Amino acid sequence: METRTTGLATRGIDPLDGAAVRADFPLLAAPPEPGTARVAFLDSAASSQKPAAVIEAMDAFYRRDNANIHRGVYKLSERATAAYEAARHTVADFIGAASARECIFVRNTTEAINLVAQTWGRRELRAGDLAVLTVMEHHSNLVPWQLVAAETGAELAFVRMTPDGRLDLDHLDTLLARGPKLVAFSHVSNALGTIHPAEEITRRAKAAGAAVLIDAAQSVPHVPVNVAALGCDFLALSGHKMLGPLGSGVLWGRFDLLDGLPPFMGGGSMIRRVELSGSTWADVPARFEAGTPAVADAVGLGAAVEYLSALGMDRVRTHERELLAYAVGALAEVPGLRTFGPTDLDQRSGVISFELGDIHPHDVAAILDEEGVAVRAGHHCCQPLMRELGVVATSRASFYVYNDREDVDRLVAALHRANRVFAIG
Ligand code: PMP
Repeated sequence: METRTTGLATRGIDPLDGAAVRADFPLLAAPPEPGTARVAFLDSAASSQKPAAVIEAMDAFYRRDNANIHRGVYKLSERATAAYEAARHTVADFIGAASARECIFVRNTTEAINLVAQTWGRRELRAGDLAVLTVMEHHSNLVPWQLVAAETGAELAFVRMTPDGRLDLDHLDTLLARGPKLVAFSHVSNALGTIHPAEEITRRAKAAGAAVLIDAAQSVPHVPVNVAALGCDFLALSGHKMLGPLGSGVLWGRFDLLDGLPPFMGGGSMIRRVELSGSTWADVPARFEAGTPAVADAVGLGAAVEYLSALGMDRVRTHERELLAYAVGALAEVPGLRTFGPTDLDQRSGVISFELGDIHPHDVAAILDEEGVAVRAGHHCCQPLMRELGVVATSRASFYVYNDREDVDRLVAALHRANRVFAIG
C-alpha cells in the first residue's frame, strides 16, 4: 500500500496554530452558507471533525482498492486486505501495542466494552464476585457491566468522586481491599474533562489482583497514551473522536488474554472450521471480527492516526492545555457562569462543563448556536455523575486541534448575549 502523508510535515504548519490546522478540515474551513460565520466547533468530545487526509483516504480506497477482504485471491482483494491490515498496524503503533494482533476493529468504544463484558465478563465473573467501576463513568462503561452483573450475580461497586470531579483514590483502595476481579474506569471524563491518574489506578488495581479495562474514548484523541506504560489489560477507543470516521473504533487487549477468550459474535471470518455439529474459532483478532468489516472506515482511522502523529500528541495536549487556560480565564468574566471539574488544569483535558445562572443548558446551547458556536448540552451520557454534581445537565465546550482563541472569544461573546437575552448580566 502506498504511504499517505498528511501534508502537515511538508507544509510546515505549526500545530499549535489552530487556524492553520483548521484549513485542513473542509467542514470548518469555510462558512456553512455564504455570508455566514464559520462554525466555532466546540463539541469534539462528542465527535471530531475530519481532515481532508481522512476523507481522501476513504475516497481513494473506494475508488481504487474496494473489495471484500481476506477471502479474495485476486489483486483488488489483496490490496483491500493490505490497506485494512496496514491501518491495524498504524493504530497499534500509535497506542504502543506489542503487536497489531492485539487491536480489534469495532464500531466504537461502546462496542469495544460490550465485547469485553460479553466475553471476558461472562466467563470470569461469578455470583459474589466484585467489579469496581466509578460514579463518573459514561453509560457505555456502566450499562454493559450492569447487564453482565444481572446475568452472573456479580456485584458492582463504584469509586466515589470528590466535589471538584476527581476520583477518591482512598475509596478506590477501600474497594480494592475487597479483592475485585475487575476495575474498569475512564481515563478522561467526557463530562468534566478530568484526567484520571490511569497508571496509578492500574498499578493499584493490578496489585490487588484485578483485571483492568480503560475507557480511553477521551484520552487517546487528546493526550499521549501508551498501553504498555499504562499496564492495563483492555483499552477501548472511538476513532470518530480522534479525527477518524464515524463507526470506527478499536478494542486493544493483551494478547494472552484475548487469545483465551470465546467469540463475541458468530458468523463468517471468525471461524477456523465449521461443522453442522459445532465450530472452532479463528485466531485473534479475526475471532472478534465476524462478518465483513468496515474496511474503508479502518483505512480512514489509519489516516487519522497518521495525521495526529504528524501533529505530535505532546503538541496536541499542549495546544489544548493552553486553550483551556485561556478559556477558563475568559469565562471567569461572564456573570453567573459556574464551571465544574478540577481547578488544577494539569488534571483537565480541553473540556469545560458549565452552567449559566439558572438558564437551562439547552437554552444556552440554542443561543450559542445562533452565534455559530456549537456546544453540547445534556447529561453527556453520565446521569449518575450529574446526580453527584446535583444537576440534571450542563453545557459543555470541548476543544481540539482546530480550535483557537477566536473560538473561545466567540463562545464568551455568545454567553454574554445569552445573559442579555435572559436579562441576567
Ligand atoms: N466513554 C467516554 C468517556 C465517552 O466520552 C464516550 C463518547 N461520548 C463513550 C465512552 C462512548 O463512545 P461511543 O459513542 O463512540 O461508543
